[in-house]
Amino acid sequence: MTTELITATAAELAARLAAREISSVEVTQAHLDRTAAVDGAVHSYLHVDAEGALASARAVDRRRAAGESMPTLAGVPIAVKDVMTTAGLPTTCGSRILQGWIPPYDSTVVARLKAAGLPILGKTNMDEFAMGSSTEHSAYGPSRNPWDLDRIPGGSGGGSSSVLASFQAPLATGTDTGGSIRQPAAVTGTVGTKPTYGGVSRYGLVALASSLDQAGPCARTVLDTALLHEVMAGHDPMDSTSIDAPVPAVVEAARRADVAGMRIGIVRELTGEGFQAGVQQRFDEAVRHLVDAGAQVVEVSCPSFVYALAAYYLILPSEASSNLAKFDAMRYGLRVLPAGDDDPSAEQVMAATREAGFGDEVKRRIILGTYALSSGYYDAYYGSAQKVRRLISDDFAAAFASADVLVSPTAPTTAFKLGDKLDDPMAMYLNDIATIPANLAGVPGMSVPSGLAPEDGLPVGLQILAPAMQDQRLYAVGAALEARLQAAWGAPLLASAPDLTAATAKGA
Ligand code: GLN
Repeated sequence: MTTELITATAAELAARLAAREISSVEVTQAHLDRTAAVDGAVHSYLHVDAEGALASARAVDRRRAAGESMPTLAGVPIAVKDVMTTAGLPTTCGSRILQGWIPPYDSTVVARLKAAGLPILGKTNMDEFAMGSSTEHSAYGPSRNPWDLDRIPGGSGGGSSSVLASFQAPLATGTDTGGSIRQPAAVTGTVGTKPTYGGVSRYGLVALASSLDQAGPCARTVLDTALLHEVMAGHDPMDSTSIDAPVPAVVEAARRADVAGMRIGIVRELTGEGFQAGVQQRFDEAVRHLVDAGAQVVEVSCPSFVYALAAYYLILPSEASSNLAKFDAMRYGLRVLPAGDDDPSAEQVMAATREAGFGDEVKRRIILGTYALSSGYYDAYYGSAQKVRRLISDDFAAAFASADVLVSPTAPTTAFKLGDKLDDPMAMYLNDIATIPANLAGVPGMSVPSGLAPEDGLPVGLQILAPAMQDQRLYAVGAALEARLQAAWGAPLLASAPDLTAATAKGA
């Protein structure tokens, strides 16, 4: 019974809750029990809120018992990335500088989850301030990949991907500035969407790079991802970049899973060299499945994509250095007084606090960004990067003239071992080579599982990209592929993941 409750999809749980066959308290408790059993090994959570989740579950159960008509996902529990403010619950963003900070307000995303009746299980681990591809930059220690506990679950949202892959939650939230929803989904065999920029409110998200940041849904199936997308998305007057237009019909597209006649563009620059053989193989097979489902394949070229990583690592640090200036020891979290000084100046306190409170990767990017924005260099670095950004948008526009969606492998390799890339920032940055262009252009993207790489038995993800405001196309293609692959495999991919209870009992 309990196993059924934690392996069920959110859509199944929602249907059984609506039929009152199960209660939200049972479902929520089953997930909390699972966390007690396995999170010692996986470390998906920075903070678990058992009491709060159960209180919300009880409230949903009461309203349902009273005959109230409830939103679709009411009673289905969710895990929230620790970058999103939660009133009364810690929000650290994986950083020591925010240790102990309890936000006085909910981010819009969290407010919408609450209004839709989703009990919040806790806050998930992440690379500090969402900088990274492995969660190893979290100040609170890394999360682990449920497929192999010695490997990374992706980043920055590795807490959210591992929470799903270890069946501690059926749904999770993420944010994607350069791939932090899609790459973790790819390496854990889960699904994640970065919506069109402006599709989901950024109000109450701790900002990394404001022109790239986008919150989105994470789940184990395409339909579940769509159901959560619908709850999170929609116009918000509190975010000036929020799009004031109807939310794309993502749930309908996920249910129809229809790709007949759709033109699928393969981006020449995002395949082949640099991609692990098994990743490329699963990608090629997935494309064949889409063709069998009635899609047409076209090859497209996006020549400026080769400059995307370089442009991103100028734009992101520039915006981040400015966004992170607010952590000044006066307004939030940590305050460190310089040793041996009885009467330090405000600047000395700021310097001591930022020195102690930020990790190496964050400092690296603050220095890079400050340099790129400094007078005399601004045009050469930040200005040039913005020009490249325009060229990338032009490449997308040209590609979408001949294709309805674009596809590529999500990440160049399967999950690597913890520690393997930690001392090599460039190797770490290269994980996002295929995901970054979408953030620079603001277009939506999704990662869906495309199988296990034959050489290491680890999950591979396929990335789908669509024009801005056409998020529903991601779901049509994702759901069509998922249906075909699961029919071929005979079960969802995660059904073949290792049994973590055994690993935990062994003290792994
Ligand atoms: N890995 C990328 C980076 O380190 C992406 C981060 C993100 O999407 N938040 O910047």
